[in-house]
Amino acid sequence: MTETSHPPVRDDREPAGSDLPAIELSGVVKEYHAHGEKVPAVRGIDLAIGQGEFFSLLGPSGCGKTTTMRMIAGFEDPTRGEVLLNGKSVTDVPANRRDVNMVFQSYALFPHMSVFENVAFGLRRKGVAKDEIRTRVAGMLEIVDLSGREKRRPGELSGGQQQRVALARALVNRPRALLLDEPLGALDLKLRQHMQVELKRIQREVGITFVYVTHDQGEALTMSDRIAVMNDGRIEQLGTPREIYERPAGKFVAGFIGTSNLLAGEVGEVRGADAILAYGDGGRIVVPLDDRTAAPGDRLELTVRPEKIEIGTQPPNGDGGSRVRAKVAEVVYLGTSTNYIVTTSAGDDVTVFMQNATNADDIAGRGDDVWLSWEPRHSYAIGTS
Ligand code: ATP
Repeated sequence: MTETSHPPVRDDREPAGSDLPAIELSGVVKEYHAHGEKVPAVRGIDLAIGQGEFFSLLGPSGCGKTTTMRMIAGFEDPTRGEVLLNGKSVTDVPANRRDVNMVFQSYALFPHMSVFENVAFGLRRKGVAKDEIRTRVAGMLEIVDLSGREKRRPGELSGGQQQRVALARALVNRPRALLLDEPLGALDLKLRQHMQVELKRIQREVGITFVYVTHDQGEALTMSDRIAVMNDGRIEQLGTPREIYERPAGKFVAGFIGTSNLLAGEVGEVRGADAILAYGDGGRIVVPLDDRTAAPGDRLELTVRPEKIEIGTQPPNGDGGSRVRAKVAEVVYLGTSTNYIVTTSAGDDVTVFMQNATNADDIAGRGDDVWLSWEPRHSYAIGTS
């Protein structure tokens, strides 16, 4: 898909380009009451989303993502705390007067109307002049790559195309921010992946702040500028996809994002900025301490990502990194890569991804004794236990 050179859709109604965050939540708490019981859905959230940012709320089912988004939209009132849009508190502003639009998983298109009329609907209600409606709808259909399909009814479009009509309909109103609640959930995997790339392109082109709710970590990593990982009504970590993947703030994030190997060992010595852990049968793990402190005898927990580990039947060369003995439990061939699931000499299950650039399938088979090795910088300390 090539990029076209549309001007940003954000218009000039209000002084744009301010440094104020597009959306701010300050001390936001939401408690529902169901059957006489208090249900804490959001337990205190502070965050600031920048203008034009693609921001995702990511977390498992029931962690409070949708509730958070509904409070931004104005469909729910916070029990405590404040929501600000462009620096102004909107606590008393109803949903229909907030400068945000929401796109749902069910596209909620009007089935009897054409694509053009679906997108034009909001503009007509606002009394926008006919010529302007025509220009704005055409421009938006071009951005979502649906030019030429103006006359079709939603039922004559694929799921992905319907989703793009829903997107065009929300964006044509030029909201300051677009809130998307699992908008790709109904699409099959291939189409979903295609739409992820499309959504990111569209967001870049229109320059509008997107807040995206998903429980799919791959989706969040692909599209977001920043991600808030939520668990049980709280933000566990807020950062760029790389920060969250490579430097998870704790066990929950490490386990939720991608595949992560969680290991622990006793600190034998601290050498410079690294802790050297004794591990299993003659093994050793080197862990940069960053800003943590650890002393000999402490038990340190760490993660190492599967793609950072080398696997081989011979002891690894060099003596600066981590080296751990293991036995292969399972080999899974996945086309572009092979996954090895091994049990270390300390009894931990570890996953190793090897790219199949070379004849990686020859490395080891089930039941083989192997060595795992990785560079010091690929161990990431997440806590002491
Ligand atoms: P999912 O991914 O399954 O949509 P979520 O992360 O969006 O989950 P929320 O829908 O925000 O989670 O729900 C958070 C918590 O609040 C859950 O425990 C849920 O059962 C509860 N909850 C949500 N809406 C209500 C309601 N209207 N009344 C009572 N409890 C509710």
